[in-house]
Amino acid sequence: MGKKQKSPFPSSSLNLAGAVEYPRLFRSVLELSKYVSLPDGLIEVAKKVEPHFPVRVPAFYLGLMELHNPFCPIKKQALPSLDELSGSGYIDPLEENGARLTPSFIKRYRGRGVFLISSECAMFCRFCNRKRLVGKGLNLEKSWEETFESIGKLEDLHEVIISGGDPFMESPEKLSYVLGRLRNLKNVKTIRISTRVPVVFPEGIKNEHMEVLSHFSPIWLIIHINHPKEITEQFKVLVRKFQTAGLPIVSQTVLLREVNDCAKTLIQLFEGLVELGVKPYYLFHLDEVFGAHHFKVRLSHGIKIYKALRKYASGLAIPNYVLDLSGGLGKVPVLESIVGREGQVVFFRGHEGKVGSYLDDGYESRCQNCGFCENT
Ligand code: SF4
Repeated sequence: MGKKQKSPFPSSSLNLAGAVEYPRLFRSVLELSKYVSLPDGLIEVAKKVEPHFPVRVPAFYLGLMELHNPFCPIKKQALPSLDELSGSGYIDPLEENGARLTPSFIKRYRGRGVFLISSECAMFCRFCNRKRLVGKGLNLEKSWEETFESIGKLEDLHEVIISGGDPFMESPEKLSYVLGRLRNLKNVKTIRISTRVPVVFPEGIKNEHMEVLSHFSPIWLIIHINHPKEITEQFKVLVRKFQTAGLPIVSQTVLLREVNDCAKTLIQLFEGLVELGVKPYYLFHLDEVFGAHHFKVRLSHGIKIYKALRKYASGLAIPNYVLDLSGGLGKVPVLESIVGREGQVVFFRGHEGKVGSYLDDGYESRCQNCGFCENT
């Protein structure tokens, strides 16, 4: 993955096009600074943040950024901020560590479980709810065999979600091995792959990956995408290839302050996905993850946006707006599950009737006066 490649650089706004060669994945802000002119102070910020939460940025995604625009929604998702070292939240907001049956397998819900095949991602999203493990060099592969064995013994499991990290950071051979082993387990009927690589690092998906997917199809693909600018030509080409390989595709999006906290932006994103044949599946309200507090959108604003989506977007373009309650209480639909509020603490009724809370301490969103939220 550290291999260097030649220009042309995908960006029209950066001067990398003149560089003879550059990394496909930049592994620190310092490395980035050798190729592009960064906003003032970013290197100092990175020195403080990177020891806790590493930085990785694909050259492709860098090419989508307006590096000197403080409101660039692409830049905000990828470059570190001092805000990551303060604010409320939990290191493991969904208490996934406590629900692990093996180091690489989480089983919380009836019928399904999450197989973390890698802790590597093409990009370390600054708001990630697995900030505690992505890019931390964990060798999850050494527990794969234990995981296959554990999954095979579970009578109440029929669906496996392959996640991480990102499954497409594995070679086609390794992905094929994992899919083959899972397909051989009689209880596993459905397999999902959860990924952000098609959006941030499309060249990371090889034709050989497509052949593997086609061989084991149907595999459900869940693509994490947050902004209409992420629907690039390269993304569209990949979607078409996945479809040709026979994969049903849905999307998931995280509602992020100053990235996509606007009904107009989200309608553009979701309708753009529908146009490609991708069904918007989940819109997540941000988990209570430590280090991402500055991305928190206030619940009242999220609800306003969602109501505007319901009012103006085509039914196909409306995902489920959900919140994963901290403490492992599960995903709940935001609008239907609120049972009360005390100050900044909002109470939701979760699975099995249990009541969970969410600290609604996000900042105000910056309204762009698109008019979509009015009268909702
Ligand atoms: S790609 Fe997914 S798992 Fe990786 S850092 Fe981004 S949100 Fe987290």
